[in-house]
Amino acid sequence: MKAIWIVEITHPVGSVALSNAPEKQIVYSSLENFKTTKFNETPIMSPYQLAIIISNYKYTSGYSDSGTLVRVFAPSSQLNKTSHALQVAIKALNKFEIIFDINYPLSKLDLFPVTQFPASAMENWGLIIFEELSLLGKNLKSVEEVVIHEVAHQWFGNLVTMDWYADFWLNEGFATLYETDSENQILHDYYKSYAEHALESPIRYINTRNLWSKFTLQKDVTVYVKGSSVLNMLRKVIGTWRFRKGVRRYLKDNAYKSVNTQILKKYFADSMPENSPNIDDFLDPWLEQIGHPVVIVKHFNKTHNILSQQRFDNHKLDFYDQTFAKPKWNYTWYIPLWYKNDVKEKEQLIWLKPGELKLIEVTETTTIKNPLCRFDSTESNFKSLN
Ligand SMILES: [Zn+2]
Repeated sequence: MKAIWIVEITHPVGSVALSNAPEKQIVYSSLENFKTTKFNETPIMSPYQLAIIISNYKYTSGYSDSGTLVRVFAPSSQLNKTSHALQVAIKALNKFEIIFDINYPLSKLDLFPVTQFPASAMENWGLIIFEELSLLGKNLKSVEEVVIHEVAHQWFGNLVTMDWYADFWLNEGFATLYETDSENQILHDYYKSYAEHALESPIRYINTRNLWSKFTLQKDVTVYVKGSSVLNMLRKVIGTWRFRKGVRRYLKDNAYKSVNTQILKKYFADSMPENSPNIDDFLDPWLEQIGHPVVIVKHFNKTHNILSQQRFDNHKLDFYDQTFAKPKWNYTWYIPLWYKNDVKEKEQLIWLKPGELKLIEVTETTTIKNPLCRFDSTESNFKSLN
């Protein structure tokens, strides 16, 4: 449920009050030594994004290309540590406005450090709260990742929000995808590789409250890392430009609304290449099942190998296995593979379908890739895979 929020804060004289929207007016309170700060209306937004802060911190500031005031707050003694986060936040706003083709809708964005915050940050619209070291710390790469991730949430999460925790991955998968992503090249051209253990969980969660607590331990790595990896795989299947077009339409059509995975898939359904499964058959097994596949490559003859798949059975977690057994797929996947038979050849997309034994031609230089799979080539002609 989203609403417009009108905030007024009465706070001690000498302190400064902040909230999601820019301040409109300061009036003196009837209480001695207090004043009241009144804020502009927020955009239509979810209640979990509402934030207020009262402090005596100072700030450094700058403007994005489209005129958003960006402020990074700190105690006076640490104000000299704010410049990196400020630059990164401004660059990220500029870049995301181009990629998503939607301007950041507020006239200000504040970044505020809090000691002993129980997460690295919280993306409240217009007033992002950071654990102190994630904003002002010496590890510049970690500051970059957290700041960019939280700025990405201003679109993925704040403008377009998941309608229930089952689809939490829509917020976190996208924010993580854009956090260190080569499509953006906000700062660096690197891609964060997935954490292996993250693949041992489903991305979407069962839609009941009492189960939710059991997933909290696993939720972070799964929704963040597996979510972004599946989105990255989808982007590779349909191509960067079509992916970007789908993302733009998804954000525009659903701005100030709530969404779920079904809605997201619609925006990519028409982009699946020829001879590919439809978007549901492709994505659902990756989103709903735990685990991930191993592609087994076996010698067939001098010129050909045979591919098949099975579930990678690293460490079975009974609770998850029982809860997420999906007889419909029985731990099989539509696996996109990027295949190249010769160094000069262009990489081509081939699919390994559930239950399929696929014959492929193999030369000395053949490569097959999919970062979300393992490969077992012990009985093949391959020297190395992946
Ligand atoms: Zn996040």
